[in-house]
Amino acid sequence: AEADAILSVNNIEVIYDHVILVLKGVSLVVPRQGIVALLGANGAGKTTTLKAISNLLRTERGEVTKGSIEFEGQRVDRLSASDLVRRGCIQVMEGRHCFAHLTIEENLMTGAFTRRDGSAAIAGDLEAIYDYFPRLKQRRSSIAGFTSGGEQQMCAIGRAMMSRPKMILLDEPSMGLAPQIVDEIFEIVRDLNCKEQVSFLLAEQNTSIALRYASWGYILENGRVVLDGDARMLRDNEDVKEFYLGVS
Ligand code: ATP
Repeated sequence: AEADAILSVNNIEVIYDHVILVLKGVSLVVPRQGIVALLGANGAGKTTTLKAISNLLRTERGEVTKGSIEFEGQRVDRLSASDLVRRGCIQVMEGRHCFAHLTIEENLMTGAFTRRDGSAAIAGDLEAIYDYFPRLKQRRSSIAGFTSGGEQQMCAIGRAMMSRPKMILLDEPSMGLAPQIVDEIFEIVRDLNCKEQVSFLLAEQNTSIALRYASWGYILENGRVVLDGDARMLRDNEDVKEFYLGVS
């Protein structure tokens, strides 16, 4: 694997239910402190790729049957999802998984479950997260289920930040949100990347916004990477424009 890679996925194959071949040899690299976009239409295999990395496929009867995954130069394909969180890699699932009946602050605190450092450090991080997400600070005592979609997405990312990750696998953060709130969320992602040195692998159907914030993109079609490159190059690519950016 490359010396400066935080994550490398090497030719993985994923099969659901022992017979449904969904990933047909996917490889990708996320540089340390990078933001990389994983793009493609609905059903192309983006979520499957993220779940393969964070070892969340088993509950869906899916399995990585070939290839390898390295995080910080070490094989992680046999680690449990929570061990991977302890190593510093965490997934924020599609659909902004918050605990609907808990407050925003209680949700954030659940993100510290893998930590063994004291409550003072955790309380300090909570305040730091509120600095990145002023909306969450305002809504800290609100029941998550009654907050807006954008606030719930922020809560899910903030919760992940409470584990002090080196890398976040972020699945479809723009889903169902108004453009203005999507911009706000991506600005915070960029901020976390710059100031907290968090690397991001970002699965997005919203190609246009993802390529504005990522430095590199991979395009998945039918379980294969069909194109990858520098984000600016992809934005100018005629096929990408026609099929993914809605202009020709
Ligand atoms: P989405 O935008 O819907 O998340 P995606 O690019 O993330 O799309 P995946 O969710 O990874 O795509 O799905 C890839 C393919 O795998 C699809 O054809 C889907 O039907 C199939 N698939 C996903 N989960 C399962 C499962 N648990 N069992 C069988 N097939 C599945």
